[in-house]
Amino acid sequence: MRHLLGVADLGGAEGIEEVMRLTDSFVEVSERAIPRVPALRGKTVAWLFYEDSTRTRLSFETAAKRLSADTMNFSVSSSSVKKGESLRDTARTIEAMGIDAIVVRHASAGAPHRIATWVDAAVVNAGDGWHEHPTQALLDIYTLRQRLGSLEGRHIAIVGDIKHSRVARSDVWAFTAMGARVTLVAPPTLLPPSLEGWPVTVSQDLDSVLSTVDAVYLLRMQHERMTEALLPSLREYTACFGLTNQRVELLRDDAWVMHPGPMNRGVEIAADVADLPRSLILDQVRNGVAVRMAVLYLLLGAGSDLVPPPATPKEDSVV
Ligand code: ASP
Repeated sequence: MRHLLGVADLGGAEGIEEVMRLTDSFVEVSERAIPRVPALRGKTVAWLFYEDSTRTRLSFETAAKRLSADTMNFSVSSSSVKKGESLRDTARTIEAMGIDAIVVRHASAGAPHRIATWVDAAVVNAGDGWHEHPTQALLDIYTLRQRLGSLEGRHIAIVGDIKHSRVARSDVWAFTAMGARVTLVAPPTLLPPSLEGWPVTVSQDLDSVLSTVDAVYLLRMQHERMTEALLPSLREYTACFGLTNQRVELLRDDAWVMHPGPMNRGVEIAADVADLPRSLILDQVRNGVAVRMAVLYLLLGAGSDLVPPPATPKEDSVV
């Protein structure tokens, strides 16, 4: 894998399994007293975030530091982008400083793909418009596997603003690649105009879907990407599609609740439901670091010749 621009770059179930195996090693590293290995010493990773982020940026940054990479943090709001510098010039300027990978988030679908054609560094898509968010899909699979063992034959409902969600797009392809069955639950206005080719079923009846799933995945309303009013009111949305205190009772005892964050408590998920023992939301965040360590390691540390990360305490204290 030269870049990680979308789930397709992972090479199907086999490639995803490889990331999962590496993630296991990095979860172990993350649990050590000194959670650091020298795997990417001498490499530099830069962040190019044109959109807000809490989890993804901090998680990539932590991942790079735990691998002993140097990091370069580019903040769009205080850079020459404000003076009109183009994406191409910005990317090539950063690369000229000597970097090995660029982690990109951009409001336009395809921006990381463009950057990948302009620079030699590895490019990681950390979210491009409505398009894809591949590392979110990887951490979601890892989190589900911790609870379900395998995704083969499992049923997952993705609920909410599918239309504007890059998480939904990456998750649908990744979950189904791992053998899961996906049902999208949303009002017609929050579904993409065409679902041709999507390996999913669609429902408008959350109540009837809930009792059949192994996990329900809630999505935030992406107000920043909406150009028109797509809902009569948020209250009505919550009444039909929110995971309310009453509705969560419809889930089987062994079914899990997930959300990529940021949550709008009281809209797509009731405040208390997000904190139930069946909620995996903080596991998702926790696993995000190890998954991103695996991705950076695959792109920069190992190439095709996979070497497990150093695991001895002696190596641990080298940094
Ligand atoms: N954090 C996720 C994303 O960047 C989900 C969201 O913002 O609602 O797409």
